[in-house]
Amino acid sequence: MDNGGFVDLSHFGAELMLAKTLFDYGARTPVVSALCGIKRKTATRIYRLAQEQAPIKGMLPWDPHWISRSTINNLHASIFLGLIQDYVSGRANGTELGLQFCNAYMLYCSIVAHNPKPCSREAGFEHHRVLDINRAWQLTRQFHASALHFVMCLCCQSRFLIPRQEDQQAARCPVCENKTGSVARQHRISRPFSQNAGKTLTICLDRF
Ligand SMILES: [Zn+2]
Repeated sequence: MDNGGFVDLSHFGAELMLAKTLFDYGARTPVVSALCGIKRKTATRIYRLAQEQAPIKGMLPWDPHWISRSTINNLHASIFLGLIQDYVSGRANGTELGLQFCNAYMLYCSIVAHNPKPCSREAGFEHHRVLDINRAWQLTRQFHASALHFVMCLCCQSRFLIPRQEDQQAARCPVCENKTGSVARQHRISRPFSQNAGKTLTICLDRF
C-alpha cells in the first residue's frame, strides 16, 4: 500500500504537524526530512502544500567553525545547545527527536526575542534570531557527534561552547574575553601613544 512516503502511518498526524511547524520556522526540506523521519520527496510535497511554492534548492549553509567566528555566534549557539543538552534526550530518535529539537528551537526563539538590549548585529535579524533553524540542526549534529563541547567560564560561571580540538580548560567565555579586551584597550588608549607602540589588541571587538 502506498503510504505517501511516511514510514509509519500511526505517526502521520504528528509528522505532518511537525513538518509544518519546522517549515514555518524556515527549515529546509533535508532538515525536515531528517527530523520527521520522512522521505525528502514527501517533505517537498508538504512544503508545496503548506507554503504554496517550491522549496529552496541547493546545499545547506555549512560552516564547521561558525561558533568561533564571533562572540554573538558563540553566545546564541551556547543558548540553543544548552537547551538541547538539558531537554533533548540523547536516546531520542525519529519524531520524538524532531519534536524535542523543535521545542528547543522555539524556546531559543522566545529567549532571544525578549533580549532587552540587542547589539547592532542581533538587531539586524528578525526577532534577534541570529541562529537559523537549519544551522541549529547542523550544530546539534556536531554537538551529538562530540565535535563541540561545553566548558565553564571561570569568570561568570556560564557554560559556553568550544570545538573539540580546543583546550577544555579555557578560562574565559567569549563575552568575558571581550570585556577583558575592552578594559585593556581603554587602559592602553589612556596612555601615551609611544607606550602603546608594538602592542596589539588580542581581542578584536569588531567581531562582537
Ligand atoms: Zn564568562
